[in-house]
Amino acid sequence: MILEVQNLNASYGAVRALKDVSLGVAEKGFCAVLGANGAGKTTLLRTLTGLHRAAGGRVLLEGEDLTRLPAERVVTRGLAHVPEGGGVITELTVEENLRLGGLWRRRRDRVALDEVLDLFPPLAQRISKSASTLSGGERQMLAIGRALMSRPKVLLLDEPSLGLAPLVTRQIFDLLRELRSSTGLTVVLVEQNANGALAVTDSGFVLNQGSVVASGPSAELLSDDRTRHAYLGF
Ligand code: ATP
Repeated sequence: MILEVQNLNASYGAVRALKDVSLGVAEKGFCAVLGANGAGKTTLLRTLTGLHRAAGGRVLLEGEDLTRLPAERVVTRGLAHVPEGGGVITELTVEENLRLGGLWRRRRDRVALDEVLDLFPPLAQRISKSASTLSGGERQMLAIGRALMSRPKVLLLDEPSLGLAPLVTRQIFDLLRELRSSTGLTVVLVEQNANGALAVTDSGFVLNQGSVVASGPSAELLSDDRTRHAYLGF
């Protein structure tokens, strides 16, 4: 397992958002984290990346404990996060947005920029344009490209399908799958769109009220009527 989460707990005051969450993601895996509104998915990603302090438990990346590291150190260790909505800065150009993703790397990394532009030709074509000129799907692509600038081992994405048309969502999911096979990246996809996410990932975890209530190969979760009806809404 490249990423291991052991008995992770997180709270907002008296609200326990994560309750003893344990999960593992295999190297080069494509893993879905599913669950309804408020299940704890965003809190899980924010706690993994040091943006929210864990109240207990551990986060291990290739066996190294990241639990108490500040967010910028977590990035340099190899865990990158595409936040909900992408977080693209529309006042900056495409290139400036991409360079922000490499900010914590020790030296200017021209190679990373070239690699990202090779992966995403639509971004290369718009490199000097304002990010405000991009479509919703292209902004999500830019957010993913920016995260790749830190050369992560594991990429975490928070609901990339939010606000996108079904066809564009499908393109983004396919792009993630291709990225995984062409670069060997491990991808963790947090989604409310459980049906779409299980169709492209190879394993999944279902969160409900801060706890893992189901897990397994994506195909098995898709055919598990009880889990689908109780927690996934389809
Ligand atoms: P969504 O799909 O709506 O983003 P989610 O599965 O990502 O939902 P979280 O946002 O992680 O869920 O929320 C988990 C729980 O923590 C919910 O009960 C939520 O109300 C609570 N919560 C989240 N953020 C805060 C906060 N800043 N302050 C207090 N409670 C919060």
